[in-house]
Amino acid sequence: MSHSLTYSATPVIELNLERKDGVRLLVKREDLNHPFVSGNKWWKLKYNLEEAQRERHKALLTFGGAYSNHLYATAAAAHELGMKSIGIVRGERTEPLNHILSFAEARGMKLHFISREAYREKKEPEFLRSLRNQFGEVYIIPEGGTNEFAVRGCAEFAKTLEQEIDFDYLCLPIGTGGTIAGMIEGLSSDKKIVGFSSLKGGDFLINEIRSLISDTQLEWQVNTDYHFGGYGKISDELLAFMEDMKMNYQLPLDQVYTAKMMTGVFDLIGQNYFEYGSTILVLHTGGLQGNGSIHKS
Ligand SMILES: *Cc1c(COP(=O)(O)O)cnc(C)c1O
Repeated sequence: MSHSLTYSATPVIELNLERKDGVRLLVKREDLNHPFVSGNKWWKLKYNLEEAQRERHKALLTFGGAYSNHLYATAAAAHELGMKSIGIVRGERTEPLNHILSFAEARGMKLHFISREAYREKKEPEFLRSLRNQFGEVYIIPEGGTNEFAVRGCAEFAKTLEQEIDFDYLCLPIGTGGTIAGMIEGLSSDKKIVGFSSLKGGDFLINEIRSLISDTQLEWQVNTDYHFGGYGKISDELLAFMEDMKMNYQLPLDQVYTAKMMTGVFDLIGQNYFEYGSTILVLHTGGLQGNGSIHKS
């Protein structure tokens, strides 16, 4: 018996800009596709779940930090499909658990905390073997869910975008690079893609992304100017921007990924970066559950 995650169709909204801006700005609200496995995580998990079921695994094992949207999504997906899940979490367990981890635990995910040093081994075959010894037969999904199955799911999503919406540029946030890799694979080569890194020093992402895609004519680039001090770091300026977006456009954004990207999109529009008369499609990749823990650092 195999079944798949529920999926809700998602709207595209237009943010009304001033005529002088010379571009149209659309947002695909993919954050609304599922209450818990939201945004890009749904598409990244789709073929991983299929593969896990095809191989008749009863449990998923994956990795993440204490604020990982991927752990949250994997716990919810496993719960919905009647599978077990194990989360290998970076760092020590601290009580009370934050809302991401307590949600995961409430959905049945077994949380296993390991030191930061041990966590660095997360891709080593030997370490994965020891996890299999400890937890039995499990389907292992890498950190952030990024692997070839994730790329396949995101490429499929890209094709549906192209069928549904007329656009010239696609803008999206980047963490591990799996989602943008799928977009590069799935979109036709007349589109342009601008990804916004949520990490400081995100230049390594270019090679990471290249390793996930085949040769392409499509123009894509990684913008590293809008990380706001690094992954998970926020500022008053960013929070004020998020408030503005909610007030002016009824658009809720998350503080780790989509808000930072959106500041970049507006900045680049102001700099006339996008070709005059073009349509920009922004991907809302979800992550709103992360806002339950606004903490400035
Ligand atoms: C995980 C996540 C990303 C990053 O996706 P990658 O495939 O790792 O680049 C972007 N936005 C949101 C909201 C996420 O949860």
